[in-house]
Amino acid sequence: MTGTREKTQQWHAQAADALAAELGVELATGLSAAEVAARTVKFGPNALREKPPRPRWRMFADQFADFMILVLLVAAVLSGLMGDAKDAAAIIVIVVLNAGIGFVQELRAAKAMAALKKMAGSRAQVRREGQSLDVPAEEIVPGDVLLLEAGDVVAADLRLIEVAQLKLDESLLTGEAVPSEKTAAALTAGKLPLGDQRNIAFKGTIVSYGRGVGIVVATGMQTELGKIAGILDAAVEPATPLQKRLAVFGRWLLIATLAICAAFFVICLLRGQPLVLMLMTAVSLTVAAIPEALPAVVSISLALGARRMVQQHVLVRRLPAVETLGSVTYICSDKTGTLTENRMRMVVLHATRPLRFDAEPPPEIPASEPWPSLMRALALSNDATRNEDGTVSGDPTEVALFKAAFDAGFAKAELEKAAERVFELPFDSDRKRMSTVHRHDSGFIAYTKGAPESVLPLCRAALGEQGEASFDDKAMLSTAEGMAAEGLRVLAVAQRHWTAQPHKDEQGIEAELVFLGLIGLIDPARPEAQSAIALCRSAGIRAVMITGDHPATACAVARQLGMQGEAVLSGPQLTAMNDEDFAARVADIEVYARVDPAQKIRIVEALQKRGEFVAMTGDGVNDAPALKRADIGIAMGKGGTDVAREASSLILLDDNFATIVQAVREGRRIFDNIRKFIRYAMTGNSAEIWTLFLAPLLGLPIPLLPIHLLWVNLITDGLPGLALAVEPAERGLMQRPPRPPAENIFAHGLWQSILIVGLAVAALSLGVQAWAIETGSAHWQTMVFTVLTLSQLAMVLGMRSERASVFKAGLFSNRPLIGAVLISVALQMATLYVPALNTIFRTAPLSFAELAICLLLSALALFIVELEKLLRRRWPRSKRHSQRAA
Ligand code: ATP
Repeated sequence: MTGTREKTQQWHAQAADALAAELGVELATGLSAAEVAARTVKFGPNALREKPPRPRWRMFADQFADFMILVLLVAAVLSGLMGDAKDAAAIIVIVVLNAGIGFVQELRAAKAMAALKKMAGSRAQVRREGQSLDVPAEEIVPGDVLLLEAGDVVAADLRLIEVAQLKLDESLLTGEAVPSEKTAAALTAGKLPLGDQRNIAFKGTIVSYGRGVGIVVATGMQTELGKIAGILDAAVEPATPLQKRLAVFGRWLLIATLAICAAFFVICLLRGQPLVLMLMTAVSLTVAAIPEALPAVVSISLALGARRMVQQHVLVRRLPAVETLGSVTYICSDKTGTLTENRMRMVVLHATRPLRFDAEPPPEIPASEPWPSLMRALALSNDATRNEDGTVSGDPTEVALFKAAFDAGFAKAELEKAAERVFELPFDSDRKRMSTVHRHDSGFIAYTKGAPESVLPLCRAALGEQGEASFDDKAMLSTAEGMAAEGLRVLAVAQRHWTAQPHKDEQGIEAELVFLGLIGLIDPARPEAQSAIALCRSAGIRAVMITGDHPATACAVARQLGMQGEAVLSGPQLTAMNDEDFAARVADIEVYARVDPAQKIRIVEALQKRGEFVAMTGDGVNDAPALKRADIGIAMGKGGTDVAREASSLILLDDNFATIVQAVREGRRIFDNIRKFIRYAMTGNSAEIWTLFLAPLLGLPIPLLPIHLLWVNLITDGLPGLALAVEPAERGLMQRPPRPPAENIFAHGLWQSILIVGLAVAALSLGVQAWAIETGSAHWQTMVFTVLTLSQLAMVLGMRSERASVFKAGLFSNRPLIGAVLISVALQMATLYVPALNTIFRTAPLSFAELAICLLLSALALFIVELEKLLRRRWPRSKRHSQRAA
């Protein structure tokens, strides 16, 4: 392959064989692994080039581009100029340590996000070494044979060599909104505009219908998309709603803090304190008051949460979903595969009489008509394939029918020898039926199968023992409904003979049919879905089933799952309703049956208008608009299409409803933990401000030096703060109602608690200061310093739960937190007892009695936190508040 550029113009004019020869590939088997490896080296990955991510040194340097840090650096320079080099050095060391912590956090978050992105990358079906494989789209090379089906995003530029009603949405490249029908035939030579290259499938376009096979002619930047896209900016994660809100809050806090510090500065100056010391103290106070770690803790909590969710089979595509999951009030879920196991099995056959297969031993299939014809229809009008190892793959409905026929001695492969398929009208969920046409000795035979109400009206007769007999489609429809009421998926099967090959058109083939029989398939409800639905109920979340199946089938399954099976609405009923009528009823409905995917968006919108926060699942091409519209769109990882994945925020790797509920729980936990960190960090800051601010008013000397404040902040927010992010879920997490999406993070009295508990802890430090000065201890400053640090470490233990007592929940259940607290205590002790640090921190080794007093007072902070929780539990602020506690 040389001169790709010039040749791309002409791929469309070549015959398939010539093309395969030129690209060095055998169409039937595809490339060999060795060939793929060689071409990967030659052509590189099949990806559009992105700007390289921020280098690490940049990430580290960016830690200093913070207003607070700059203020601190100025302070350091200032004290250096004033001749206090040691102070300056200490401040710089602390600033660098702080930046180091920030850097490590950011790096961890970035790594977690990169891993997620890789996992969410698109994949493609290729034929290599005679097998069909599912590979990451990046690994495709020119010459690969690619298989396309509805819902795929085309992974590279392909010259099509086989198409079955393949239609591509090329609007991305051509702006043309109507999908264009593709062909496999060679076109006339010459330069053609992209829109006219009808045998080429371009990278990035979407398969909206049908299927096809093509040879890759260009990858990555060589594709048409690559040429116009140029180099993409690496996708930057947009800030989540919480991050945005916190940024606004941060600005306000900064202003408020500056005001407080200015006031402090002025008051102290008036009291005759030295100017430089006061300036430095005011600066340190500002630094102490701002929770710098907050944005980092939020992003790391979200990123680590997303990583943890992968272990629970949920892949996060958009980070904001992690924090908003806790607000979900409605989960609208597909039935098949999500609420059920997607393991269909035929349990009833009904032709001239019913035969049940769920009993032992299974009945014999009678030798007289219509039974053999019915079984032949099941085997032949079937898209499942038998693999070499004897397993059967394909759509679960098709697989079930294949197996039923096979077990009864009707093997598809055998029958096809005498009845080769000439063409088909594929299944789609709008028509709810499919037909195949076969050539056999006396002419042609067409089989049609599908939903009873879509097939039975097309039948004019039924096949009986003596040949064609009269047929009552109404009676058969009510038989079908009876079967559906047992929770079975029911299909009707019919046939028609032709002497000459019929034209490939719907009206012609699917008319005047002869009815063969009904089939009832069971798809067991997932046992775990039942408990998940109960959990939803306790968590104030409504579970809603949306299915293409018959209402009776849907209701029966819904009841098995413990849902309200009576509240059902069918697609046709929904179509007949106007928006107002629907809005009036939407809150009562738990089951939607026979809906087509386009109606899902109406359901989402109606719920959202009522203020609900909706999670919605989907897997098909037509589901994409509803997935995008939902507050949280959830695509299926096993069965889902690329298009659905790209429209969604989460991908369910195991297609299981219970996993969605698990993800909601995880979302609630993460949000809780962020709130806990805010409570902890801000209460600590509030204690520091109170201490510094009140001391002069109480006639005490300034309790702490700037270096002390910086240190307290560094060690209390750093490790213990991070450890809060891994706090396990609180009991009762799924027994409270969802958090309103617009609710302020400081709701439920967080503000007040920060101020009051902070004041109480400040009282401890001020108390120790007053006492020490009173008793003439020279170590009063070291003692205040120690109490302020250790009391925050005691506080964090209590703040692990927002309402419940930690003495009940287990004081030591978060190991990383205990470790973090121990390390921090050790560091604090080092500042007291390591002589070199004594000079830097201006501390002195405390006597045993002094240390004991500090430890006792600090431990009191835990009890202050617990007391506040006790009071809140006793006297809830509002009804809503008490519900949260319930
Ligand atoms: P769910 O929403 O529960 O996943 P669905 O929307 O996927 O279900 P469809 O697959 O669209 O449901 O099926 C709708 C109806 O079409 C079925 O109830 C059945 O009657 C009919 N049907 C399904 N699969 C086939 C098939 N392979 N051949 C013929 N008819 C089918």
